[in-house]
Amino acid sequence: MRRIVVKASIATVLSIAASLGLAMSIIPLLGGVVDGNAWLMTVLCPLLIAFPASAYQFWQHERLRTARDEIGRLHGELTRAHAALAQRARRDGMTGLLNRESFFGDASRLSAQDEGGALLVVDADHFKTINDRFGHPAGDAALLAITAAMKGVLRKGDLCGRIGGEEFAIYLPGTTDAETRVIAERLRAAVAAVRFEAPDGTQVPLSVSIGGARAGPGRNFEQVMTEADRLLYKAKRRGRDRVAFAGRVAQAA
Ligand code: GH3
Ligand code: MG
Ligand code: MG
Repeated sequence: MRRIVVKASIATVLSIAASLGLAMSIIPLLGGVVDGNAWLMTVLCPLLIAFPASAYQFWQHERLRTARDEIGRLHGELTRAHAALAQRARRDGMTGLLNRESFFGDASRLSAQDEGGALLVVDADHFKTINDRFGHPAGDAALLAITAAMKGVLRKGDLCGRIGGEEFAIYLPGTTDAETRVIAERLRAAVAAVRFEAPDGTQVPLSVSIGGARAGPGRNFEQVMTEADRLLYKAKRRGRDRVAFAGRVAQAA
């Protein structure tokens, strides 16, 4: 408000000065005399017109500026909310891991530019029994315990997604076969080491079976997935709680 009054006052003073200047140059030119009435009119007219008109204009200008600032602030908030929503839409609501679509999108893109790299498909063993014995909420807690155990093994830059109910997929960029076997075995062992307790206090052993296949440029990602899936079922058939990578089955510790 103060700023508006100051600006309007400056505009009024300038108008009075212009009005006086014009009166003093034009009236003598027309043969008149700048008398008391002329002075009064040249000061009074701008004062009565310029002050309210400019105050109104500056007030409108101020309102527009405030509205523009508010729009800018809201736009920033919307952009941030949109980015957060887009991020959340990529994630599985329960585990926070990438969802199936995001995992396959990211992993296939990554593997196309990756020199080495491997895909692991991880499936929780006998999970239906856990649900049947201890209830679905206990099953959910077990899935979270499995997720946490696997996260503890994965390196920064590895991709992990939940691609089905009790099924996960992991893309390990830039790994050799030997490194992939080591990481897959660590994942298996980390889940097997979880001390999971059902609500009734029963210790419930958890385990996963893992199928793995080599990925990378020139390898169709769908075929890599099919191969990893085939090896996962091989690990299941061989007794579960084990890793099958590139056709070789590693015995559980
Ligand atoms: P297998 O060792 O052969 O994989 O046996 P399984 O019992 O794990 O496999 P199956 O496909 O027969 O059953 C999967 C079970 O996983 C059944 C389903 O209810 C459960 N499951 C899937 N998603 C969730 C989930 O989000 N929460 C809970 N609690 N259970 C889930
Ligand atoms: Mg299962
Ligand atoms: Mg399954």
